[in-house]
Amino acid sequence: MSPEYTKKTESQALYRAIAENTRDVILIMSKGKVSYTNDRIYDFLGYTREELGDRNYLDFVVPEDREKILSVAPLLRDLQNKSIEREFRIVCKDGSVRYIHSRFSPLYNADGDLLVVNTDITSIKQANERIEHAAQEWRTTFDAIRDMVWICDKDCVLTRVNKSFAAAAGREPRECIGKKCISLFQDAENICGKCPHHRVFTTKEPGNAVIFTRRRYFEMQVSPIFAVNNEVLTAICAIHDITEQRAMEDALRSAAQKWRTTFDSLGEAICLTDTRGTILQCNQAFADLAGKPFSDIVGHHCRKIIFNDTTSPTCPVEDLRNNRQRTTQTLQIGSRWFNMVGDVVTGENGEFSGTVLILSDITESKQAKEQVEQLYTLESELRKKLEIEIKQRTYFTRALVHELKTPLTSVVASSELLSEELKEDPWLSLARNIYSGALNLNNRIDELLDIARGEIGMLKLNIQPVDVTRLFHEVFTSVSPLAAANKQTLIADIDNIPVIMADENRLRQVLLNLLNNACKYTPAGGHISLCAHLENGQLLAEVIDNGKGIDKEDQKRIFQPYQRFETDKEHYSGLGLGLALSRMLVELHGGKIWVTSAKGTGSTFAFSIPASMNLLP
Ligand code: ADP
Repeated sequence: MSPEYTKKTESQALYRAIAENTRDVILIMSKGKVSYTNDRIYDFLGYTREELGDRNYLDFVVPEDREKILSVAPLLRDLQNKSIEREFRIVCKDGSVRYIHSRFSPLYNADGDLLVVNTDITSIKQANERIEHAAQEWRTTFDAIRDMVWICDKDCVLTRVNKSFAAAAGREPRECIGKKCISLFQDAENICGKCPHHRVFTTKEPGNAVIFTRRRYFEMQVSPIFAVNNEVLTAICAIHDITEQRAMEDALRSAAQKWRTTFDSLGEAICLTDTRGTILQCNQAFADLAGKPFSDIVGHHCRKIIFNDTTSPTCPVEDLRNNRQRTTQTLQIGSRWFNMVGDVVTGENGEFSGTVLILSDITESKQAKEQVEQLYTLESELRKKLEIEIKQRTYFTRALVHELKTPLTSVVASSELLSEELKEDPWLSLARNIYSGALNLNNRIDELLDIARGEIGMLKLNIQPVDVTRLFHEVFTSVSPLAAANKQTLIADIDNIPVIMADENRLRQVLLNLLNNACKYTPAGGHISLCAHLENGQLLAEVIDNGKGIDKEDQKRIFQPYQRFETDKEHYSGLGLGLALSRMLVELHGGKIWVTSAKGTGSTFAFSIPASMNLLP
């Protein structure tokens, strides 16, 4: 064997060994046909040698990519034997598509054969696609962030910005790259000092800061981006407008402050507990009541704080948990009494989430209530006594009147008969004196009886239609002799008044009393007037005299029973019951009585009673 032959066979064996052991598919193309292939081709395509037979390999190339391969041969000729690379896709037996990278190299032999080395780059391609997809996702996310986000180096030179950043700078994103952020914003210079960017490059830790500019608050966050050598390569910065958030926080803080102040200023002691009864919050009044600082109350069970761990009275929390209904109880803490209302606190979905206990100090009202109860008992005892006394008095008065009136009636009747029968004095005068004295006494007894009846509400009227004009003239006529005897001038000023509903006898009694008083307390030569008018639906009657008059102090009590004034007691007879009885009778008619007087110049006694309502149809 010649050395050349041996060399040739050795190199052929070497090529074959390489070809058989490489992971690539090695092909030799001779005159457009595959003259050699290693066994890798079967792994690539998934066919056995038999299945493959002498099929054209171009058939396995995706149709759109075939031209890439067909164009290789003429190109190789034009490029004068340099290698050419191509990427294309093949369809395997299982239908999967694989990416192939092929290097076509001339073999420099006489037949112009080509060596084709095919590498399966499917996994690299897929990895690249994934990387590209991830990068795309990242870019989209980066641009979609509404906050300004940018990446810059340690000198603040921008390497990437998102759309919000570019919009704020008034440029396209690519116009910002390579520029310093300070050159893009007017107020960047002010912000620079507060920006945590530089710190991040030395500390290698993320940093943040709140910046106030253009009347708004911004929160800035900077995070380092590391190189392979663990040095900070760039920093990613984001700025977020927190003005609204801050305003909301301030509003919340102020609301919480207001709530706390209100809570603390409430007079009632209030505490909030969790579902088990542990106190979560309480106000100042509650702390005062417990006699402890907040720190010794919050976190402790309400039973311990309010009830001092005693079981009586029972703590309402358990009750509220079971029944979910407001509870009220009275309890004593120290020397004071409290009304405690317990209610359920519900969560957003109406679930039982705790309780609120409100304690109101009722010591004063409890004492007041007890006092009222005592007074009530006292008052009802006194009332009973009074009722007994009134009964006794009524009984006594009736008995007295009966005892006095029975003999008096015969004295009046006898003296009247005597004064009619006797013709000569002194018997006639004596009989008349007895008659007038007995009449006077009879009147006084009647007054006493009426007053007694009036005081216990037994004085009743006999309401009938009354011709007031006639009645007034009649009374005027009956008093005229007395006035004449006293040398007083009595005049009448009586309007024509329609008939009204009233008790005629009682009305007469009032008028006579006022006129008799006027005659009694007016000196000789004085003037007395009786007036009657209809005014605003009321009958208005006046008895006017120019007598001695009554001073202011005495006027105040003149209509009370038994009121007689010192100066009159000696000179005039009477019990001081006439005016009191007049008032009772006028008021029983739904009217009122009054006096206007001045000492030494005279008095006007007047009364009014409703007339319009009582007019007859
Ligand atoms: P009495 O039976 O004492 O007259 P009255 O109740 O009628 O009782 O009168 C109470 C007092 O009012 C009289 O005592 C008198 O002091 C005073 N008084 C009544 N009318 C007049 C009057 N027209 N002028 C002055 N004082 C009068």
